[in-house]
Amino acid sequence: MLLAVVACDRDSVHVTQDLSGHTMGTTFNVMLVAPPDDVPLDSLRSDIIAALERVENIASTFRETSELSLFNANASTDWIEVSTELCQLVFQALTVSQQTDGAFDITVGPLVNLWGFGPDPAVDEPPSVELINAALKHVGYRRLQTNCERPAIRKSSVEMYIDLSGWAKGYAVDQVAILLDMNGLENYLVEIGGELRVRGYNAKKQTFAIAIEKPMPEHGEEYSIVGLSDVSVATSGDYRNYFESGGQRYSHMIDPRTGHPTNHELASVTVVSDTTAFADAMATALLVLGPTDGLALAEKLAIAAYFSVRTDQGIQSFSSSAYSEGNFANHARM
Ligand code: ADP
Ligand code: MG
Repeated sequence: MLLAVVACDRDSVHVTQDLSGHTMGTTFNVMLVAPPDDVPLDSLRSDIIAALERVENIASTFRETSELSLFNANASTDWIEVSTELCQLVFQALTVSQQTDGAFDITVGPLVNLWGFGPDPAVDEPPSVELINAALKHVGYRRLQTNCERPAIRKSSVEMYIDLSGWAKGYAVDQVAILLDMNGLENYLVEIGGELRVRGYNAKKQTFAIAIEKPMPEHGEEYSIVGLSDVSVATSGDYRNYFESGGQRYSHMIDPRTGHPTNHELASVTVVSDTTAFADAMATALLVLGPTDGLALAEKLAIAAYFSVRTDQGIQSFSSSAYSEGNFANHARM
């Protein structure tokens, strides 16, 4: 979404094979650098598209027939049998909820839908306090249980609604990266809607350079570049997906604790980590937490994070220690 890959074809020393298209309501790009001759590119392309389709068919709330949509529509509060993959997805997302004390929370669905950022048509004014309070009764990651040996998931009230949108893009990037690894590819970039993973080197035979754009509605100027290899980068922002009403801006980032969209000076957070799913979710959590609590959590968990804050003097940025030190390993993994 707000990450651009700095490429300079003139200086390329390697051939790249690019594949792009649409998935999960956004675009995807796969760049293979100097793929070995024996890699069957055509079948690899169809395998990548099949992997993206698989993730959408499991985890998209925008597909009525996805496994997740069927789970959400299921009126049972008993254990509901699900696929191992959906169970694992939910289980891993819940661990990030525990790490962030619920700032990232996939049970935020009733609120996301109420504020018009779900599959139903968008809204142009905030919902009533009564509706927000009613939705909040069915939000909370502790209300969701998983048993992935079975595998099954259990919700504690019928109105609960899981929203994996803050996890699925990063997860899908990781799935494509695994596919590329299995096919012997060592140099690539995979990107879905701004969440990305890089391995090896780019067409110039250098580590990838990622530009973090200024958080503005239009593509802004580049503003920090880091040389990366074998890491994932994800950014959350409050300024691309929002509606305005009564001079207020309401973003698609919802604070599950208050039931309201985040409303503070933190405009965007970029997280660099060793899986894209984790980076994606942690970027959302830090954005929800805001500049002070977000930085404190990033320090506590040793997460590499880059924050951009709106000030009277324009956008100002700061980063966590792990980011400054180039320490991108996820120490918070359980
Ligand atoms: P961004 O690219 O800005 O991170 P994403 O699409 O990755 O945006 O994630 C935002 C989506 O995550 C929202 O549209 C909503 O469906 C969901 N979401 C909103 N707030 C939360 C939250 N606190 N925890 C988990 N998911 C959330
Ligand atoms: Mg995200």
